[in-house]
Amino acid sequence: MTKYVYMFSEGNATMRNLLGGKGANLAEMTGLGLPVPRGFTITTEACTRYYEDNESIAPEIEAEIFETLAKAEDMIGKKFGDPNDPYLVSVRSGSRASMPGMMDTILNLGLNDTVVEGLAKLTDNPRFAYDSYRRFIAMFGDVVMEVEKSLFEEELDAVKADRGAKLDTDLDADAMKEVVDRYKALYARVKGESFPQDPREQLMAAVKAVFRSWNNERANVYRRMNDIPGSWGTAVNIQEMVYGNMDNTSGTGVAFTRDPSTGENKLYGEFLMNAQGEDVVAGIRTPQTIDQLKDVMPDVYQQFTEIAEKLERHYRDMQDMEFTIERGKLFMLQTRNGKRTAAAALKVAVDLVEEGMITKEEALMKIDPKQLDALLHPTFVPAALKSAQSIAKGLPASPGAATGRVYFDASTATEASERGEKVILVRVETSPEDIQGMNVSQGILTGRGGMTSHAAVVARGMGKCCVSGCSELSIREKDGYFTTEDGTRFNEGDWISLDGSTGLIYAGAIDTQDASLSGDFDMIMKWSDDVRVLKIRTNADTVRDAAMAIKLGAEGIGLCRTEHMFFEADRIFAFRQMIVAKTVEARRAALEKLLPMQKEDFIGLFETMQGYPVTIRFLDPPLHEFLPHEDAEINELAGELKISAADLKTLINDLHELNPMMGHRGCRLAVTYPEIAEMQTRAVIEAAIEVNKKGQNIIPEIMIPLICDVKELKFVKNIVVKTADKIIADSGVKLEYHVGTMIEIPRAALTADEIAAEADFFSFGTNDLTQMTYGLSRDDAGKILESYYQNKIFESDPTARLDLVGVGKLMKIASQDGRSVKKDLKLGICGEHGGDPSSIAYCHELGFNYVSCSPFRVPIARLAAAQAAISGADNLGQK
Ligand code: PEP
Ligand code: MG
Repeated sequence: MTKYVYMFSEGNATMRNLLGGKGANLAEMTGLGLPVPRGFTITTEACTRYYEDNESIAPEIEAEIFETLAKAEDMIGKKFGDPNDPYLVSVRSGSRASMPGMMDTILNLGLNDTVVEGLAKLTDNPRFAYDSYRRFIAMFGDVVMEVEKSLFEEELDAVKADRGAKLDTDLDADAMKEVVDRYKALYARVKGESFPQDPREQLMAAVKAVFRSWNNERANVYRRMNDIPGSWGTAVNIQEMVYGNMDNTSGTGVAFTRDPSTGENKLYGEFLMNAQGEDVVAGIRTPQTIDQLKDVMPDVYQQFTEIAEKLERHYRDMQDMEFTIERGKLFMLQTRNGKRTAAAALKVAVDLVEEGMITKEEALMKIDPKQLDALLHPTFVPAALKSAQSIAKGLPASPGAATGRVYFDASTATEASERGEKVILVRVETSPEDIQGMNVSQGILTGRGGMTSHAAVVARGMGKCCVSGCSELSIREKDGYFTTEDGTRFNEGDWISLDGSTGLIYAGAIDTQDASLSGDFDMIMKWSDDVRVLKIRTNADTVRDAAMAIKLGAEGIGLCRTEHMFFEADRIFAFRQMIVAKTVEARRAALEKLLPMQKEDFIGLFETMQGYPVTIRFLDPPLHEFLPHEDAEINELAGELKISAADLKTLINDLHELNPMMGHRGCRLAVTYPEIAEMQTRAVIEAAIEVNKKGQNIIPEIMIPLICDVKELKFVKNIVVKTADKIIADSGVKLEYHVGTMIEIPRAALTADEIAAEADFFSFGTNDLTQMTYGLSRDDAGKILESYYQNKIFESDPTARLDLVGVGKLMKIASQDGRSVKKDLKLGICGEHGGDPSSIAYCHELGFNYVSCSPFRVPIARLAAAQAAISGADNLGQK
């Protein structure tokens, strides 16, 4: 029979999955002989059962809870509900991963109208008894029964005002009794029933509330942001009460073994005498710093510092502890690995290694790679952010903080930037034409588009803050304004601020602070490089991005999107000429103009990458993306092309596709217009020859996109090889080059053995592979996500976090089948998932050679790849 309830004395820290973090650590501290109030934990499996049983607690679990409660009563020598000497408990949630979105603590459970009087007599302290009762009613009301917390606060304030009291501690027993009466009346008024008097009923209601809180909105959002599966469930901890509010020799506090914002090795925290739990954080009274405890209670301080040191050494990590002092006696209520800023995470990890407490590998495992973002991008000044007002939320498409005036098209944004203004470009969605405007902006905000939409991908490449797919806003580009859901209007030139890490949009300007990197960062990166197996490449199309990626540790380019090289104003014309060409000759003439530009670009990239591999992908997007849509722009282009506007419109209409993402793009362009592939091959090969003549040893990798059939690859490869070999032969120098393909259509993955015979490498384009596997547009995925989350269909956004079940399976099939034909087939990933830690771990597991991601994600990928190697080695050790 499954055991659902464990006394603290029955558990330990390794039972985290079953007992949750809090429960496992309470058990561990009990085992270490530390002063922990006694109690027990209802397991996470009981929570899972609760949901399986249609949100009810099975009778056998309820029976086990009360059996364990009876054991605890025997051990403590007090009875639940006994007015003469009551056993009161706290009820707290605790999942495997600490989750601030979940249920708050309930203290003093077990009190009722009779027990409170008994407690008053027993302690000879009626003020304390009624203070505890009123706190319990408010917590139970708020947390379990959803009675608005502020309503309780209003009642308390009214009593304070009546009695001329400033602080809660100024209220005497009589006043506390009045507060209790008012709270009970309020409870009855709101709930239509009186406050429950049966402690057992109170307990079961609280346990259910903890289980329910696993599924509340805050918890779901937190889980999504932190990749915590919904199936884990939460445990419930029931612990004997100790009282920080008993008198002036009692108190409560929280402390970290090191400073959580800087990582400095020094006890950091605060406490409040004559107070209970939430008073410390509630800000009603100002807490004292933990150092001051030395003066208030020197013995307790001494004992606490010894325990803190012991716990840090035991857990080999910075601890975050909660404690209570009851009449001069110290009790430990919780310990856990402390949350810390990115800078502190690095410093603590490096210091712990230097102090000889942990190995380098352990240090690497302690850092959340995603946290590194905060070190690489500007962030809001925390104090400034506190008073900021958020107006909407979109997708956190590219991290960083940005503040500026809103402009609704690329050219006015560029003009404003030239005037010296800080600019936020706001668009319904961006297109290649917006590139200049994006470049000059502090941040980009779009109404449509998912995590792999044009805006998201380009902004990430530029290292620029972007919030995409904010459907809450109604954006009127032409009229120069947008409105929020509540109708507030923001006009061109108004200030807003964006947080690309959370997706939040704020009214007004908020001060930002620049990113800064410390020596600890370099140390962590070096240790990562020492252990990782995966190579880290970058997605870069410009010398600027490539140079930044090299600085951040990239070891090659895994994806150069050649279409991005034609965005600039002086190139777009020739590119458009190529697109609208009616004959092969006209197209070749336009391509001749593009050739030198493209070749120059490749030379720049090859030189910047200093001999590292460079993968150049041939033209991929639907061509009409590059054509103008507005009348004025069409007229202008028609003039430049010396054709009539009507003719140009017809051409544009002819190019229009109903489903462009599945249309005339990728290798299909090279099949229908082989001359494009010829020109691109010439540019790559001539550039490589030129650079190698100067002493480098570039081996260019040409990548053919969007293959669904090996014959397509054969066809395009044939053009590449013919063109390249002729140039090489004519030049009289030797040049090695590789031709590979992207795997981004399910059929390609499923026929990988055939394709591998023709390919030197596979690079998984998981943006398209996800889009095509799900049949879900990467540009519009954002629209359905919210209802998919709410209805528990998706737990995360598959365009951002690799779906291992489906897309991952295709990758596995393709990798295995590909390598079954060609043992040393090089495997990589260049979709946006290449910068996501859990996807990187999967690529490591599949034996990939490299992952490729945008430049600013390179450090994240280096650490994530190291963690994957370390976990992989651990797993092997266990087998
Ligand atoms: C992909 O599809 O994953 C990819 C890298 O190509 P793009 O994003 O340019 O379509
Ligand atoms: Mg693609």
